[in-house]
Parts: sequence; C-alpha cells; structure tokens
Amino acid sequence: MIAQPKASHFIDGAYVEDSAGAALEVIYPATGAVIARLHEATPAVIEAALASAARAQAAWAAMKPVERARILRRAADMIRDRNAALARLETLDTGKPIQETLVADWPSGADALEWFAGLAPTVTGETIPLGRDFVYTLREPLGVCVGIGAWNYPSQIACWKSAPALAFGNAMVFKPSEVTPLGALKLAEIYIEAGLPPGLFNVVQGRGAVGGALVTDPRVAKVSLTGSVPTGQKVYAAAAAGVRHVTMELGGKSPLIVFDDASLEDAVGAAMLGNFYSAGQVCSNGTRVFVQRGIKDRFLARLKARAEGITLGDPLEEATQMGPLVSAAQRDKVLGYIAQAKSEGARLVTGGGMAEGQGYFVQPTVFADVIDTMTLAQEEVFGPVMAVLDFETEEEVIARANATDFGLAAGVFTADLTRAHRVIGQMQAGTCWINAYNLTPVEAPFGGSKLSGVGRENGRAAVEHYTQVKSVYVGMGPVDAPY
Ligand code: NAD
Repeated sequence: MIAQPKASHFIDGAYVEDSAGAALEVIYPATGAVIARLHEATPAVIEAALASAARAQAAWAAMKPVERARILRRAADMIRDRNAALARLETLDTGKPIQETLVADWPSGADALEWFAGLAPTVTGETIPLGRDFVYTLREPLGVCVGIGAWNYPSQIACWKSAPALAFGNAMVFKPSEVTPLGALKLAEIYIEAGLPPGLFNVVQGRGAVGGALVTDPRVAKVSLTGSVPTGQKVYAAAAAGVRHVTMELGGKSPLIVFDDASLEDAVGAAMLGNFYSAGQVCSNGTRVFVQRGIKDRFLARLKARAEGITLGDPLEEATQMGPLVSAAQRDKVLGYIAQAKSEGARLVTGGGMAEGQGYFVQPTVFADVIDTMTLAQEEVFGPVMAVLDFETEEEVIARANATDFGLAAGVFTADLTRAHRVIGQMQAGTCWINAYNLTPVEAPFGGSKLSGVGRENGRAAVEHYTQVKSVYVGMGPVDAPY
C-alpha cells in the first residue's frame, strides 16, 4: 500500500469510513499493483454527505463573496505549494506521466480556484427602470450541487466543478470516478485547511449507483457530470425528474483539419498533443485528423518519425512522455478498436499493439487512409490512436467534420486567416482552436454541443451554471386594483 488515504470518504470536515460499503481497489496502472483499498459509500454515508452539505450551504451563501474568495485563494496557494506531492499522487491514481501531472492537472485546478475567487465578488445583478417602479435582479446560488467525475483528469475535474460552485455560494458533494478516487480527498483536506467551513465540499466514493443516489436526492439542485455519452444520458434523465440544473461534459470524436498551407511541424505537433497526451485519454482530442492531400505524405512521414520517438515507460520518471492507460479494461477496449481498424482496412502507420511493461501500456498508434464509415472514424476510442483521413476541398471537409453526433471540439491549421475563421465558424462544436489544439485555460468557456453535452465549465459562462437569477419587482406607488 503506497497511497492509502485515512479513510474512503470526506464528510463535514473529516475523513469517514464505513466498511459495510463494497470494496474498491485502487490500482497503479503502470504495474497493476493495488495501492489503496477503499469502500463504496453506503446509504448512511450518502445521507451524511447530503445532510451536512445542506446544513452548511445557507451560512456560506450569506457570506460576502470576497470572504468566500479569500478561502479559495488560500486553497489555490496551498495546491501550488504542494504540487510535487499532489502530482505524484495523481500519477499513481491515473498512470499519467509525472511530466504531465506536474504541469497540467493540479496546476489547472489551482488556476480555477484562483480565477473563480477573483470573479465571485464581481458577479452582480441589474436594475431595470420602469418609470415609477423598477426591477432589480440578484444572482443567487443554486444550493447543494453534485459533481460526478471521470478518471482521466480526476483532480482537475474536482477543482473545475467545485471552484465555481463554492465561489458563488453553493455546497458540493463530489463523487470521483471509482477508478481514480484519491485526488478529490486531498482537495477536501486542502479546502478545510484553507478555512472552508465543514460540509461545503464532501467526497463520497462509489460506482455508478452511488452517483445515481446523489442525482435523485430532493435536496440536490444541480448535477455536473463529466463522463461518457451513455452515462450522461442516464444522469440527465434522472436529473430531469426533479427539474434539476445540469452541466454535462461528455465524450467526443473531434475533427482536427490541416490545410496544405499549414505549418507542418506545428500541425503534426498539435495532432500528437491532441491524440497522445495523457495516452489519448482526453475528451476533446482531435481524433479525426483531416489532412489535405497536398501535404498528406509529408505530414505522415513527420508524424511517424515523431510518434516513434515518444518515450514510454515508468510514469514517475520525468523523462517519460507517455504512460499506461488507466485500467486493464480501458487497454483492452483500445486494443479492440485497433484490431477493428486493421480489419476494416485502415493502414497502420505506426504502433498498433501493446507496449512492453507489466502495466496497461499501448503504443502510440497512427492509422492512415481512414474513411468516414470506419468504426475508428465514428466512435470515441479514448486511447493513443490517431485516425488520419484525406480531403480535397474546404467545403467537403466542413461537411465531413460535422457529420457526427458528437460536438465537443474542433481545430483548424492553416496560414490563411480568413479561411481559419470561416471554417471554425461552421464547426458544430463547443470548443474550437485555430493553429493550436487542446489548450483549455480557465478563462475560456469549455464544453460541447450535440451529444457532447450541455452547459459550460470555466470562463464567465460558468456563472450561468452555478447561479440562478431572482427578479424583484419594486412597487413605488399605490396599487392600482380595478376591483
Ligand atoms: P463514465 O461515463 O463511465 O463515468 C463517469 C462517472 O459517472 C463516473 O464517476 C461513474 O461512476 C459515474 N456514473 C456511471 N453511471 C452513473 C449513473 N447511472 N448515475 C450517476 N453516475 C454514474 O466515464 P469515464 O469512463 O469515467 O470517463 C471517460 C468518458 O468521459 C469519455 O467518454 C470522455 O470523453 C468523457 N470525458 C468528458 C470530458 C468533458 O469535459 N467533456 C472530460 C473528461 C472525460
């Protein structure tokens, strides 16, 4: 045991255990070793978490925003001070290389806490003059929010959801993915140390049924899920029964379009970042790389050379550029997609199998000559598998890029500025890049359209999703009643 937390859950300011809950083993994906043993939340644990959140929320909402902000800023500073240890834990939990977790995971979580702390005191209502009378509006918190996380960015997801929730006066009960339960517990500890009153950020562990019990509780005002489309559809439907607010951050099969005139090295680098970072386990990845025929051969040659230079290995070594997938199940799923791509006639350029090591390693893999009807061009793989598709014209590639039920992200590489904006203007996707890919600063709204989700995280857009408007009509004169 090298990462055993004090207990499975964190409720009302303290670690809580209930060994009656089903066992949950945490596995280090690079070796397959069990690094912690937890228990799923029992109904009693879920009740305690929701009750304490509901108890704590009213007093928190009544505080001045600047006072709430001060606590979040302190927590952000503490995360940065402890980044090295937190990154190590994130690597143990996910298998992602330490060179990534040191710069991407908790650092972007700290940014969210700091940024929403800055934003909270600026959120105000409006005054609407009506002659003698007037209306004013208030932006009020929603109440108790539930956050449910995926396993690819567990701590970042916990921060991205809790930062706006708390900044605007809500409480949150957070259920991490059962595959990666450790980071959220650290966040709960840090919040308490930073001065957050107990109950405002509770963590309960468990599989889907625990999430399901949270989503349907009458005390819950909002559910924010990061996960796959099928889970999103279930959670959205369950939340609808109580007419709850939802944010759904779901999957994708995003296009990355590379025109002939693009900077070749930049386009190849972005395609690699958008397919191999976090071993490809990123929702917004540009997994359909459309390359215009004129640069196809040069693009594939550089891509193959650079992909074959990727260092796989021990994720705790700073030189390692790619780690294993998060679980044996995910590795097997990805290997299944690779086998299917081969059998459907896609041309393997590099990779295409398991990599050495005891853990769940898969080689960085590129397929060329992929056509739109192949499974690889249609389904989310969530692994280091890039599909390269050819195209001739702008009009053609726009239609093909949009011919998917997903709508999370899209990117374009071209030296032609007007074309870049014209193409992006027609992408059916919530999060887009021009001559860049997969950069998601907290300042920018993030989220999907179509089956990829509703609502937005980050940016000012998040205010809409963690507050509600109260409209107050003020009568300034006698009431004009006709009877
Ligand atoms: P998943 O859908 O299997 O699980 C997500 C979470 O939902 C887990 O915590 C799980 O326990 C919980 N859950 C499952 N069934 C539930 C139910 N019926 N009620 C309530 N909760 C339930 O997803 P995953 O495999 O953990 O993550 C990978 C998926 O997440 C991919 O599809 C990926 O694209 C997506 N993702 C999206 C974003 C985004 O921001 N759009 C970010 C990261 C990951």
